Amino acid sequence: MKVLLFGGAGYIGTHVALAFLDRGDTVGIFDNLSSGLESNVSPKAKFYLGDILDRERVSEVLSEGWDVAVHLAAFKAAGESMIKPEKYSENNITGSLIMITECVKHGCKNIILSSSAATYGEPKYLPIDENHPTNPENYYGYTKLCIEENLAWYAKLKGINFAALRYFNAAGYDTTGRMTGLERNPANLIPVVMEAACGMRDHVAIFGDDYPTEDGTGVRDYVHVTDLADGHVKAADYLVKNNKSLIVNLGSESGLSVKQIVDASRRITGVDIKAVMSPRRAGDPAKLVATSAKAKEILGWEAKYSDLDTIISSTWNVYKMNMEKKN
Ligand code: UDP
Repeated sequence: MKVLLFGGAGYIGTHVALAFLDRGDTVGIFDNLSSGLESNVSPKAKFYLGDILDRERVSEVLSEGWDVAVHLAAFKAAGESMIKPEKYSENNITGSLIMITECVKHGCKNIILSSSAATYGEPKYLPIDENHPTNPENYYGYTKLCIEENLAWYAKLKGINFAALRYFNAAGYDTTGRMTGLERNPANLIPVVMEAACGMRDHVAIFGDDYPTEDGTGVRDYVHVTDLADGHVKAADYLVKNNKSLIVNLGSESGLSVKQIVDASRRITGVDIKAVMSPRRAGDPAKLVATSAKAKEILGWEAKYSDLDTIISSTWNVYKMNMEKKN
């Protein structure tokens, strides 16, 4: 299978590339390196420098002929999207429309979208299944929903197949140590906690301790990125084999609070990570936890690496290694 990963040099894309390469697929990585790293690109993959907003470049690369396109080229900081929505409209929505329409033009019939639990918004019930209403609480989540809706229209009008993979909180690193690049300027909780453990920042700000959760801090469903990567491979096979589309959650089905993440990180790193109580961040739901029953039933997918200790220790190993390299 020939698979082109838009945004394939980033944190999630690099793990997705490894999963396809591991089973012998041909992988192309298209990335503008705005947050991805060329050093993340496996020597077994072909790298194409390009931006999804550059229609000519997208067209040129797609003209090489691909079975599946995976779309991971998006900004993902929910908090930032509430302050700079224009940045998210342009890249996440306009860029996706360019990518989708060029896929249609060049006969790349199967598109996998990195979608998000942020499409659901404040849960009406838990755990969240795919029939839960979509009412995003932040602009980032809206951009993902908007791309899903466009994919559904293009599926109806132009006969493409799409898989919208609604990730819960992607976390962890390849447990065999093949991915060593750190995210630059991360805004997500776990890399922020790791930076505090390494002394790259003074402390972690805990965004709100007055949520209606057990310990008052936000609860999320953290799913290991290697499990997510496996979900993409299974989704690609599903699209090619069944010639139909799919919207599916990928989550670990267990909820962890910000405090639990910080405490486990202290235990695993042995560092007394400083945490400072701070106001809530705009657009943050109190609690998001998935049911992944549909992924299990339709794709045969199950989270295997998504326990708290594997997530934190696989991440810490990479941070520690980078820290030792610098010193
Ligand atoms: N969070 C926090 N401090 C940070 C970053 C995140 O307390 O520096 C909290 C955030 O409010 C949420 C959880 O950690 O409850 C996960 O946030 P993240 O940004 O990692 O992912 P999101 O759920 O927003 O996609």
